Amino acid sequence: MRISIFGTGYVGLVTGTCLADVGHDVMCMDVDADKIARLERGEIPIYEPGLDAMVRRNVEEGRLRFTTDAAFAVDFAPLQFIAVGTPPDEDGSADLQYVLAVARSIGQHMGDDKVVVDKSTVPVGTADKVRDAVQGELDARGSSLTVDVCSNPEFLKEGAAIEDFTHGARIIIGTDAERVRETMRECYGPYNRHHEKLMFMDIRSAELTKYAANAMLATKISFMNEIANMAERLGADIEQIRRGIGSDPRIGYHFIYPGCGYGGSCFPKDVQALARTAGEIGYHAELLEAVEGVNQRQKATLFTKLAQAFDGDLSGKTIAVWGLAFKPNTDDMREAPSRALMEALWAAGARVQAFDPEAMGECRRIYGQRDDLALVENREQAVAGADALVICTEWKAFRSIDFAWLKQTLRMPVVVDGRNLFDPQAVKRAGLLYFAVGRGDSL
Ligand code: NAD
Repeated sequence: MRISIFGTGYVGLVTGTCLADVGHDVMCMDVDADKIARLERGEIPIYEPGLDAMVRRNVEEGRLRFTTDAAFAVDFAPLQFIAVGTPPDEDGSADLQYVLAVARSIGQHMGDDKVVVDKSTVPVGTADKVRDAVQGELDARGSSLTVDVCSNPEFLKEGAAIEDFTHGARIIIGTDAERVRETMRECYGPYNRHHEKLMFMDIRSAELTKYAANAMLATKISFMNEIANMAERLGADIEQIRRGIGSDPRIGYHFIYPGCGYGGSCFPKDVQALARTAGEIGYHAELLEAVEGVNQRQKATLFTKLAQAFDGDLSGKTIAVWGLAFKPNTDDMREAPSRALMEALWAAGARVQAFDPEAMGECRRIYGQRDDLALVENREQAVAGADALVICTEWKAFRSIDFAWLKQTLRMPVVVDGRNLFDPQAVKRAGLLYFAVGRGDSL
C-alpha cells in the first residue's frame, strides 16, 4: 500500500518507518529541508532506540523515502497521514496551524480521491476542520474529487516508540465511512494478526480518547506527587506507600512513581489543551487544572530543596545536574524538569555542570553557549568541583553510585534526587544530605 506521511518528527518518522517495515511503500514529507537532507544522508535527527537500523534497512530496500515536495507526497499515495506538531497556543489550546496547512496543501495538489488520517493529537472537531480545509481548496479549483478524513491518534512513548507502535495495546480509528474502515484495515493489517487491536469508533470519540489517555496518566503522576509532598511533611515514605497502593489490582503499579514532575511534548500541552476545550464548552475542568497546577509546583521543588540546603543563597555555587531529557531513552527536553531547575539556578546566580547520555546536543541547541553552563562528558565530570548534585532523569547509568566517592567529590554533601533512585539510609550512611521526593525519612 502506498502511504504519505506529513511531518517527519518523532511520530511521523516512527510511523513511516514501522509501516515501511511491514511492507508498505512510504513517503515521509517535511518542510524542514535540513531534517530531510540529514535523513537522506542516513542521519537520524532524533534519538530513539532501534530507529536508525530500521530506517536504514527500509531505505536500502526501497520502501522508505523522504521529500520536501508536498505536491509529490500528495500525488504519491491514496492514504495521507498528518503527523505534524500541535504545540500549545498562547492560551493553552492546541495550535492547529500546521495541521491545517497540510490539509490545504493536500486539497491544492490532489489529483485523485484521498483518505486523510489525522495522527497528530488534535482537539475534538478537528477532523471537520481538516475536511473543510481540503474541501475549500477543491471548491476553489472547481474539483469534484472526494476526501475522507479519519482520526487515528498515536499512543507511542518516546524511548520505546518502535515497540509501542508495533505492539501497542490498541489502534484507534475514528471514522463513519465503511470504505475508510477497509483502507485502515489494510494499512494496519500486519499489526492486527495476533489478536484484534483495531478499535473503530466515531471520529469525535477517537479524538477525545487520546486526550483522555494522556490526562489520566498525568493525573496519576500529579496524584502521587501530591501524596509525596504530604508524606514528606508527615514523616512517611512515599516509596512504601507506592508499593502499598500498587498491590491493589484496582490501582496497579504502573505510572504511580512520584518525581520532579512530568514533562515532554505531550502531557503538559495535552492536559492544558483539554482544560481549554472544557472552557470553550462552558465546563470548568477543575481536576485537569489541579493536575497541571500540581505539576508546575512539583517541577519547582528541585530548586526549592536545593535553595533550602544552601540557606537560600545559591549565588556563585556550581551545581551538578545528572539528566536533562524529560525521561530516559530520549533526547527530548521539551518541558523537562531540568529546564525549570537550570533556569532557576541561573536566575539565582549559580553555575550548572550537566551531563545526559543523549540530550547534550539538544541542550546546546536550546541554550547555546553560556558561561554558567558547562556540558560535560560523563557523570563524574559533572560532579567534579560541584557544590551539590541534582538528579533530574532516571537514566540507568545514574542508578548505581559509589556514595563514598560522591561524598569526597562534592564540595557540600548535598544530593537532591528528583527520581528517588537510592535507598535514603545508604546515602545518609555515606555522610551525604539526601533530599528525595516524599521520603520523610530523607529530610
Ligand atoms: P515533532 O515536532 O517531533 O515533529 C513535527 C514535524 O512536523 C516537524 O519535523 C516539522 O518540521 C513538521 N512540519 C511542520 N509543518 C509541516 C508541514 N506543513 N508539512 C510537513 N511537515 C511539517 O512532533 P511530534 O513529537 O512527532 O508530534 C507530532 C504530533 O503527534 C503532535 O500532535 C503530538 O502531540 C502527537 N504525539 C506525539 C507523541 C510523542 O511522543 N512525541 C506521541 C503521541 C502523539
